[in-house]
Amino acid sequence: MRDSTNEVLRAIATIGPVSRAQLARDLGLSGPTLTQATKYLFDRGLIAEVKQSPSTGGRPATLLGLVADAGQVLGLKLTENHAVGVCVNLHSEVMWSFEEAFSSRGDAAVKELIAILKKQSKKIKGQLLGIGIGIPGVVSPIDSGTADSSMLGWDKVNVGKAISDALDTPVLLENDVNTLAVTESLYGHGRDVSNFLTITLGRGIGMGIVIHGELFSGSYGAGEFGHVNAVHGGVKCECGKFGCLETVASSPAIHDAAVAAGYISKSASMSDLWALARKNKDIAENLFKEPAELLGIALANVINVFGPELIFISGEGVEGWDLWEKYFRRALDSHVVSTMNKYDIEVDPWDDAKWALGATAIVLQASLSRNQRSNASYTEVKNRLRIAAKLEKNVS
Ligand SMILES: [Zn+2]
Repeated sequence: MRDSTNEVLRAIATIGPVSRAQLARDLGLSGPTLTQATKYLFDRGLIAEVKQSPSTGGRPATLLGLVADAGQVLGLKLTENHAVGVCVNLHSEVMWSFEEAFSSRGDAAVKELIAILKKQSKKIKGQLLGIGIGIPGVVSPIDSGTADSSMLGWDKVNVGKAISDALDTPVLLENDVNTLAVTESLYGHGRDVSNFLTITLGRGIGMGIVIHGELFSGSYGAGEFGHVNAVHGGVKCECGKFGCLETVASSPAIHDAAVAAGYISKSASMSDLWALARKNKDIAENLFKEPAELLGIALANVINVFGPELIFISGEGVEGWDLWEKYFRRALDSHVVSTMNKYDIEVDPWDDAKWALGATAIVLQASLSRNQRSNASYTEVKNRLRIAAKLEKNVS
C-alpha cells in the first residue's frame, strides 16, 4: 500500500497535473489500488483536483496535482566566499532567493552557515521539509553530513549533523554536480531518458551520472571526471595526482595559460579572456583547442563505457562554450565508437541560483523517492511531508 502511494505521489509531482487514467496506465495499477492510494494522499492534503481545459476545446478534464504549499525546502550552493540559496514550494517554484557572504576557510564556517540558515528558516510559513546543500566536493552519504572539498578547504567537516542539530531539521548534503543531475532528472530533459550525464565546466570539472533514472553514487562516490588522467606525466593537480583533466581544462588552468602566454594580466577575469579570444582567432586556438580536445576525448571514453542518451554540459565555464565547441565536437566524434554514436548534447548555462535550486531538488526527490535509503535524514524528510500535510489539513 505504502509503495503504490509513493509511486502515485512521485508521478503526480514529476509529470505535473495528470489524469487518473494516465496514472493507472503509466504505473500499471488496478482501479482499486489507485483509488486507495489517491484517497490516502487526498486525506493528507497532499494532492488536489485540478480542472484543465483540453487545447482542442471540449469539456475540462479533472486532473490530479500536488498541493504546492504542503511543504517548503531550503537549498544552498556553497562557494569559498559566498552562499547562494533559494526557498521553494513542492512545485519547485522559487518563493525567494538570497545571497550571503560566507568564508568556507574560516574556523567559524559551519557557525556562519547555521546563522544564515536560521535567518532564512524564520521566514518559512508552514512546514520546512528539509535543507539541501550542494558541496563542490565529496560527501559521505552514509552519515549524511561529512564533506571533503579542496575548493572549500574542507577535510571531513561534519557540516550536515551540526546544521541539522542546530536547526532541528533534516539536512541532505550532496555533491553539487549531482544536485544538477537530480534537477535534470526531475524537471529537465533528463525526465525523458533513462541514462544521462551532466558535466560541469568552470573552477573544477565534475560529472553527475544517472543510470536507469537514478543517480549513480558508486560505493565511495563517483563522477570525479575532473580527475581522470588527460596528460600522461602532466602537471600536479589540486588532488595530488598528476595530469588530471582539470589541470588543463578547468577555468583556472586556461587562465594560467593565458597569463603565461602574456595575453592577459593575472587580475583579468574569465570574461575578459573570452572576449579577447573571440576577437583573435590565434589566441582562441592557442588557449582552447587543446583543453577542448582533451575534454572531448575524456568524455568519449565515458560514453564508450556507459552509453548515455543525453549529455548536459553546464557550469559557469560554458559562458565561453563557443570557443570550445568546434574542437570538442571533432575530438568527441572521432573517439566514440560508431555503435555508441546515438547521444544528444545539450549546453545549459547555469548560475548560482540554479545550483541552489538543484540543492532543493535533492530534498524534494528524497520526499518522493521510490528507494528506501537507510539514512535518517531521508526518512525524516519523507515523514515531514506526511506530517506537513496533516497539519495543513487540520488548519483548514
Ligand atoms: Zn586531480
